[in-house]
Amino acid sequence: MLAGALAGGVLAATLDHPLWSVLIGIAVGAAYSAGLKPTRGTYVDNLMAGGALGVPLWGLVSVIAIPVFSNRMPEWNAEQMRSHFPALVGWVVYGAALGLLVQALNDLAAKVWGLESGPDTSPPQKRIRIVILGGGFAGMRTAECLEHQFRTNPSIALTLVSETNALLFTPMLAEVAGSSLEPSHISTPLRSSLHRTEFVRGSVVEVDLEGRRVFLAGDPADGESNQRREISYDHVVFALGAVSNYLGMANLQKYCFNFKTLLDAIRIRNHVIEMFEKADREPDDKRRRALLTFVVAGGGFAGVELAGALNDYAHGILADYPKLQREELGVVLVHSRDRILPELSESLARYAQQRMAERGVIFRLNTRLTDAQPGRVTLGDGEILAETLVWTAGTAPNPLLKSLALEKDRRGALIVDRALDLPGRPGLWALGDCAAVIDGKTEKPCPPTAQFALREAQTLAKNIRAQIEGRPLVKFHFDSLGALCVVGHQTACAELSVPFARSRSMRFSGLLAWAMWRGIYLAKLPGLERKIRVLMDWTVELFFPRDIVQTIELK
Ligand SMILES: Cc1cc2nc3c(=O)[nH]c(=O)nc-3n(C[C@H](O)[C@H](O)[C@H](O)COP(=O)(O)OP(=O)(O)OC[C@H]3O[C@@H](n4cnc5c(N)ncnc54)[C@H](O)[C@@H]3O)c2cc1C
Repeated sequence: MLAGALAGGVLAATLDHPLWSVLIGIAVGAAYSAGLKPTRGTYVDNLMAGGALGVPLWGLVSVIAIPVFSNRMPEWNAEQMRSHFPALVGWVVYGAALGLLVQALNDLAAKVWGLESGPDTSPPQKRIRIVILGGGFAGMRTAECLEHQFRTNPSIALTLVSETNALLFTPMLAEVAGSSLEPSHISTPLRSSLHRTEFVRGSVVEVDLEGRRVFLAGDPADGESNQRREISYDHVVFALGAVSNYLGMANLQKYCFNFKTLLDAIRIRNHVIEMFEKADREPDDKRRRALLTFVVAGGGFAGVELAGALNDYAHGILADYPKLQREELGVVLVHSRDRILPELSESLARYAQQRMAERGVIFRLNTRLTDAQPGRVTLGDGEILAETLVWTAGTAPNPLLKSLALEKDRRGALIVDRALDLPGRPGLWALGDCAAVIDGKTEKPCPPTAQFALREAQTLAKNIRAQIEGRPLVKFHFDSLGALCVVGHQTACAELSVPFARSRSMRFSGLLAWAMWRGIYLAKLPGLERKIRVLMDWTVELFFPRDIVQTIELK
């Protein structure tokens, strides 16, 4: 706040409202410091991040908010924007000053109060090694919490193994598929986010439970040195997540798109553009319709958000293809139950369906998908001619777990005790989508969501420390904060639990819920730099049409 107030002076010099400038400066400064992960000496990073933050803030405050609060329309035509140029300079200088000041004050605080731990000098052989498998929400947060738990204990060595080198922020994945966000902006590099955890990029292929070793696949590109790598552990944490489950339908696996990883979202976006390009040169009406029909299977959060995003994107880029007609476009959502979004209350789910239907999404409810062929999706009660099918209707815990002689539930998830340890197996832990977690207070199964995975990680890290120090373990308990779902076209549904009365909830819909969705998930997106990049993408999206540049070639 102090940094914000000081930097706010720059704003006051360039905006017409000096008092408001300083107040806004203080508010942004407080939010900036709260989102900053203190790392000593990163002045250049903060200067750049703060300066970049100035651009979306200029758009939101100077171009939109100030005119709106003065009973005028947002001033975003070219001439009005030119008149706001001095304010843009002010915002960028303010952001850069804020970044530098926050960093300087953080460094000062660290020096005065000794907030940062010193370098680790203990001999490696005496260390207890904790190995975390998986760098998703559960694995990454476990590593962060363990770093915190053992910040003054250098005898603990932490290793995180993951197939990908970044944490994927899945709640925003649909926006990547719908071309609202740049793919890398929703991924946070694991290496730079973790401070004393060794990060190993690799694919776990085997776990030797008796020998307490983890084996990673060799890299074929390494030629002769293509050897399996081995990491030994004292404690191992399974945070390997889930994969798509095609319910035994082999053709589905062959012909559909998944929607779980960043590459999936990039592929879907590029495929949609490819379909538009093909449709543009296709003379046959029937075939053109099939090219422009996009089927999404699964009416849960992932499927609904994707259908909404694809529908917006497809309608948004239609202007670039003048030969194609709006009536030829179709986004179809297939769901096996009588209503979408079973995680939300019925009224909100019906609202979501109605708003999406008004925007052109076609719903096939109470319908099961039974097969897929190129250009054809077979349903229990007919078929749809479509060149695109995305599967979000089923997931199963990571298949690697099948090879382990450990107790699993019907879905193949590792059964854990209420403290997230594996029963009768000291040193083995599991959480997130690959574990069957039961809440220690309510005795109800915990849903496979990021919200729960993050809280499980906090309990798990505390319990590892307790086990190492010979103290009793605590049970995991967490009351859901609620659920939010974007259904496209600046519309969302939100059902938030009432604090201290978790059985009750507050419901929001429409533009307000959409603004809440953006605000809440932006706050949750890890890393200040990523937040700024996403904010800039959203600002650009306000002023410019969606991009139709193909970034990968699809065969
Ligand atoms: C499109 C979509 C939208 C979602 N939206 C929300 C939402 O809005 N709110 C919410 O709470 N939840 C949401 N979820 C659910 C949420 O993403 C998951 O519950 C959460 O990611 C689970 O965390 P996890 O760490 O257990 O698994 P994951 O995040 O899947 O992480 C698993 C990690 O393990 C790694 N891995 C896998 N196999 C191996 C191997 N053999 N070797 C090494 N590493 C391996 C993977 O690379 C990955 O890093 C969404 C999911 C999807 C797909």
